Amino acid sequence: MANKAMTTRPQPQPGILEIEAYVGGRASAEGTGKVYKLSANESPMGPSPHARKAFASAGESLELYPDGGASELREAIAGRYGLNAERIVCGSGSGELLQLLAQAYLGEGNEAIATEHGFLLYPIVTKAAGAAPVIVKEKNLHADVDAILAAVTPKTKIVFLANPNNPTGSYLPAEEVRRLHAGLRPDILFIIDAAYSEYVSRNDYEAGIELVATSENVVMTRTFSKIYGLAALRLGWMYAPAHVVDVVNRIRGPFNVSVPALQAGIAAIRDTAHVDAARTHNDKWLSWLTEEISKLGLEVPSSVANFLLIRFPSEKGKTARDADAFLMKRGLILRSVASYGLPDCLRLTVGSEEANRLVVAALAEFLGKAKKS
Ligand SMILES: *Cc1c(COP(=O)(O)O)cnc(C)c1O
Repeated sequence: MANKAMTTRPQPQPGILEIEAYVGGRASAEGTGKVYKLSANESPMGPSPHARKAFASAGESLELYPDGGASELREAIAGRYGLNAERIVCGSGSGELLQLLAQAYLGEGNEAIATEHGFLLYPIVTKAAGAAPVIVKEKNLHADVDAILAAVTPKTKIVFLANPNNPTGSYLPAEEVRRLHAGLRPDILFIIDAAYSEYVSRNDYEAGIELVATSENVVMTRTFSKIYGLAALRLGWMYAPAHVVDVVNRIRGPFNVSVPALQAGIAAIRDTAHVDAARTHNDKWLSWLTEEISKLGLEVPSSVANFLLIRFPSEKGKTARDADAFLMKRGLILRSVASYGLPDCLRLTVGSEEANRLVVAALAEFLGKAKKS
């Protein structure tokens, strides 16, 4: 039976109505007490004080358009990471850049590969571009290079890899990323989403800069939303071959990054001491949380990012859902990751010392293991 609506009102392009809109981490909890939002991997340190100041002074001249080329910010990023500024494009969050890349390189009949517990934005931007997501099984919560390569077909145009991945917190060593790249046809765009790279302190990890610089089909995306603590401003960037930069510059909004975001970003990237402090805080509390939560008898898969997964038993009253409800009542907001294929887990962002201690105490209480005081 023909749907009457099909002919009586405007229709979106194929694929768009198959999208389940992205739902961010919840921001409010029941009750009247203090709320700790540990559901969106935001920085407990906030942004650099210099970034706050730059943001405020950007408010002095709101009638002026931003520099559409984001030149000063691109130079600041290039200087910080030793890159060619010509190969950088800034965006309204790295999410916008992922969307633009999908729009530019995918269409009907194409496929884009993402992994089983990969970031949910990848299938969304793939469908929005009219293409089909191909979701590849992971191995023990890690992207599986052989399985990804086996899933490539003549229709494959993009491979998305979050490294480290959200929500698993796992990463692929540089050698594995290079092996994946080496196995891809040169006409497949390999997108490395390195949103959490600044947190990683493993010798065998690389964010992807080298691979971008030495190939024609690799893009690395980065964000100011995580360690830089500027999620509210929507600011990200990508490092890409010149021909990809040219393509994205043709389709992006001419003023896609606002003046407050540009100014705060420039100040933030120059404040390396603030980033170091955020990393030091994360190192300390990520291991503390991993250890303390494991001691409670819950599985905590190893994470290199600013969040961790906690796996709960299937026993009634002890499940992830039960824990979520229990923690919520105490103002502790974690992230349900059922939509990521992990219904028995919750994701916890590393928070302030106060928040971290409260989470561990509440989990102990939830499991009936609270210390007698
Ligand atoms: C948080 C996150 C981002 C950042 O998105 P923005 O649009 O830059 O805020 C990108 N990729 C992954 C995997 C993330 O978890």
